[in-house]
Parts: sequence; C-alpha cells; structure tokens
Amino acid sequence: METPGVILHPPFKYMRTPPSLLPEKEFRSHAPGYWKNKKIAPEDWNSAAWQLRNRITTLAQLEEHIELCEEERAGVILSGNKLAMAITPHYFNLIDGDDPECPIRRQVIPRIEETWEDPDEMADPCGEDSHMPVPGLVHRYPDRVLFLVTDRCASYCRYCTRSRVVSGVGEQELHTDYEAVFRYLEKHDEVRDVLLSGGDPLLFSDGKLEGILKRLRSIPHIEFIRIGSRVPIFLPQRITPELCQMLAKYHPLWMSVHTNHPRELTTEVKAGLERLANHGIPLGNQSVLLRGVNDDADVMKSLVQKLLMCRVRPYYLYQCDLIQGSSHLRASVNTGVEIIEQLRGHTTGYGVPQFVIDAPGGGGKVPVNPDYVLLRDEQRTLIRNFEGRTFEYPEPAMVRA
Ligand SMILES: *Cc1c(COP(=O)(O)O)cnc(C)c1O
Repeated sequence: METPGVILHPPFKYMRTPPSLLPEKEFRSHAPGYWKNKKIAPEDWNSAAWQLRNRITTLAQLEEHIELCEEERAGVILSGNKLAMAITPHYFNLIDGDDPECPIRRQVIPRIEETWEDPDEMADPCGEDSHMPVPGLVHRYPDRVLFLVTDRCASYCRYCTRSRVVSGVGEQELHTDYEAVFRYLEKHDEVRDVLLSGGDPLLFSDGKLEGILKRLRSIPHIEFIRIGSRVPIFLPQRITPELCQMLAKYHPLWMSVHTNHPRELTTEVKAGLERLANHGIPLGNQSVLLRGVNDDADVMKSLVQKLLMCRVRPYYLYQCDLIQGSSHLRASVNTGVEIIEQLRGHTTGYGVPQFVIDAPGGGGKVPVNPDYVLLRDEQRTLIRNFEGRTFEYPEPAMVRA
C-alpha cells in the first residue's frame, strides 16, 4: 500500500551507471609492471617465497620505482618505529605512479600524517587487550573467539587496527601462547566459532597452519572455523592447490578476505579466490571505509560487483577504527551510510555489506544502517524504499486490537 502525497524522505538519485562504466570494473593483470626490465622468470614471479623476499621495505626501493611526495618520504622514514612498511611486488604493481591520489598507494605507503596526534585515537581502539583471557585470544562475544596466530602480514595496511602488535616494530609484542589458547578452548564449550587472524594466518606454511586446524578440529564443540586473511589480495601466489587441498580437510571452514578497491581484484586474485571457492570454502569480504580509497558509491559498487564475480560475498564495511595515525584515512560515518543507501536496492542484495562501527573502547561491532523505517507504532510501520517512495505496512488485525 503506497501512502500517496507524503514524501517524508527526499528521493534518492538512481545510480544508472552501466556496469562496464564503473571504475576499474574489468579484471586485469598488472604484472610484470615495475619489474618489466628485471626479466623475472615466471616461476619466480609466481612463487609466494619470491614475492615475500622481494617486498618493498625501504625508501630506496620505493624511489627506484615511483616518485614520492614530501608527506610520503617523511612518512616512510618515520614508519620504522611504528608499523613497518612492506609491499609485495604483486600489490605494488597496482600503484599508479603518475597519480599522487592513487587509492592503492594510500593503503600501503606511509605518510607523515601517521605521526599526527589526535586525542580521539587509541593504540588499541577495539579494546582487545582487555578481552584477552590468555595471550593471543580475544573472547568478546558469547560463542566465538578471535585467535591471533601471528603478528606478520604479507604487506602492511597503514590503517591497521592492530598496529600496536603487528609487523614487529611497534611498542607491544604479540605473545600468543598456543598451548594456553588450546587449553582455554578445550575448557570453554560455549565457544563454537574460532576466527584465525593476526597478522595473517596464511603466511604460515601449510604444515604449521594444518597443525593449528587439526588441533582445533580435535575439540568437539568447535563447529565453525574461519580464517581472516589479506593474502589472497596481497600475495595471490600463496593460494596454491596444495594449500586449498589442505584447508578443505577441515570443513566447515570459511574465509574472510579484505579488499577495499576494485583494482585489487586482478586476474591473479580472481584465480586464487576461485580456487578457494572450488575447494568448498565460502568467501566473505571485509572492507574498511577509507578516505580517498573507497569513500565513493561508484567505487564501492564496482568493488562489490567484482567480488560477486569472484564468488565472494561482501560481508562487512567497517567504519575505520580510531587507530593512532589514521585521521587522514578516515571518512565520515555519514559517507558510509550514504554508500550503503546507494547500494541497497540499486544492485544485487548479495553485494550489499553490513556497515559496522567497532565500538571504541571495546563494545564490539554495531550495525549502522540508513533509516528505511520512518515510523512504527502498534498500528503500522511506515517505510520508504530505495527510491524514496513511502509505503505503509499495517500490523495484523489481532495485534492492532
Ligand atoms: C569481529 C570479531 C569477531 C567475529 O564477529 P562476527 O560478527 O561473527 O564476524 C569475533 N571476535 C572478535 C573479537 C571480533 O572483533
């Protein structure tokens, strides 16, 4: 039933951009890119070990390839005592050296703004340290835990929520006590879901990762295991048939990957994600809303549509945590809400992530949604749709009486 004549909400602009015109909608390979004069053998380029050995970690290596701005030069020099810089050649190739505003470089090249002090920012914005019953295990929610298995990643995101412990140069160290974690999980039969994260669990060798999975699977009350990883994006070479076959022995095993911009979905990344999916691993994506990276509805629409093509379901869009040194990367909450509004109804429902704020200080993830309910009482619910038209849903007569 449409309520005629009342427009309680301004109509929203349709996003009529044809899919092919969305930003960087096509899948492409960026290799060999900056390495083209180095004549790297394909078996080297395609090896995860080679990619890790040849990561960009110094100012000199960066400047060999691209021209930095002053803010970046100063940022790189100072990054060594906060969060290390490391960028795999695969991911580095996504950087447009001619574009100082490149959405890829903002994610991995430090800037001087990281040293800015902001009284709202924290070293442990999600209050994880205070929810650690044993070192390396965060138990905040009733039935699931976050198991921080390592402090290393293939590349370091400049807005890392765990920069206090990740990369090995910060103030704190991650002292995960594996035996204590397993004993805790054995004793706590309310825990049915274990999320392996870090750092990045997929940096472990197949054997080491399998040791953890096997041990978790020996605990009968653990039903659900998932891995949070950005390796499929930073280091798709790691997603080998052997790794996938090993993971498939520990089902139900799910994976949450982390992409923020459609350019990150290259042909190599797509092949890795498809391989994981072919081994029965359901895939979700977590994005962080970042200023100058993906704070734009067309960019996000392109990203979520490409994810669906890779059989990845967009899961969460995070408001950027109040991590120290992130002010230049954080977008407004309003921007996040508007992006969701411009996705919901305008593209495939499977492509619309849940926008969340991880409550500062340790309240956990809280959903933040556009308002579609204009009014609700015992009689009816007044709603508006994605076009801004309003409708009324009457309560069942028995409830109304
Ligand atoms: C995000 C998170 C989880 C998993 O939450 P879901 O909403 O189930 O994805 C579990 N523990 C901690 C501490 C987390 O931050």
